[in-house]
Amino acid sequence: MISRPENPLPNLLNFTLEEMQDFISSLGKEKFRAPQIMKWLYQSGSVFFEDMTTISRDFRTKLSKIARISRPQIIKIQESKDSTKKALLRLEDGLFIESVLIPGKNNWTICLSTQAGCAMDCKFCLTARNGLKRNLSPAEIVGQLITLKNEMPRCPDIKNIVMMGMGEPLANYDNVVKAIKNLTNVFGMGFSSRKVTVSTCGLAPQIIRLGKEICINLSISLNAHDNKTRSMLMPINKKYPLEVLLDACKQYPMPGRRLLTFEYVLIEGINSSMHDAKKLAELLKGQRCKLNLIAFNEYPGSPFQAPPQKTVEAFQKTLIDSHYTTICRASKGSDILAACGQLSGIFVN
Ligand code: SAH
Repeated sequence: MISRPENPLPNLLNFTLEEMQDFISSLGKEKFRAPQIMKWLYQSGSVFFEDMTTISRDFRTKLSKIARISRPQIIKIQESKDSTKKALLRLEDGLFIESVLIPGKNNWTICLSTQAGCAMDCKFCLTARNGLKRNLSPAEIVGQLITLKNEMPRCPDIKNIVMMGMGEPLANYDNVVKAIKNLTNVFGMGFSSRKVTVSTCGLAPQIIRLGKEICINLSISLNAHDNKTRSMLMPINKKYPLEVLLDACKQYPMPGRRLLTFEYVLIEGINSSMHDAKKLAELLKGQRCKLNLIAFNEYPGSPFQAPPQKTVEAFQKTLIDSHYTTICRASKGSDILAACGQLSGIFVN
């Protein structure tokens, strides 16, 4: 095995606007160069300093000697029958991650990975199988979007961002917050904060912290209404049981009429009975929320099964009758293992 020496130059895609300003100031240059550079990186998708024609040639040359621009590389793109696209991307140290482009009625959503692998060990999720390799840097998180936008043939127009790919975003808190800042900054990718969603398995303290620091949509992977089932499916529940998690959710400030989302994977014989639906409705009383149901996506060797469509519909109806906005999410891209919980960073042909 050849180990790669880490490139010691700072990757400019890791800086927030403030950090870029500090970096530029430390070189004795005007602060307003920072937003100019951000625009080249995020909006023009530049990877070469020579392209940055709004800054002087001398400064470009200097930058190229003391900094670098590096983002994930596309290795392979697969397309599903339903036109979902899954990209296998390679990181600088040779690790692989996946990003998914999901078609909607009128627009496209990108599903970003936040870690290579995952440490949370949810029993139904394929990403959990190989454990955590490492956290992704801000450059590697936002870089998935920039690379696809600039290098993928016929990349669709992406309007929404969800952090629901590989990894647990709130276990990589600092880098995820920096990435969100660069996704939403006007000199960065310029997305409205209402178009960005973070999905978590339920790290309660980080939910509270996130709510105080940044305003984006939050989605909680709930998957059970009782601690016994949830702890069996999601070991994190032993650390932050439902009472603690739901209390943290109540403290998360969703602006205006926006609602928190609870995701619930329906698994045959585990959490999808009528009784479960009624108990779930009771549990969420008093939460300003909507519900996203997902029938379990199977994968080679998966330990569970999806319930029949009839069961899914009855579950949804019970929740709607209890006055919850309840969407049943169609699983896009399951034929290419691009659906929820099917990302592994390994292509199965
Ligand atoms: N770690 C974060 C982000 C990953 S999102 C989180 O847990 O929210 C992945 C989403 O897909 C979660 O809502 C998870 O519950 C769901 N999921 C995982 N495996 C699945 C599977 N096999 N079928 C359907 N949904 C799955």
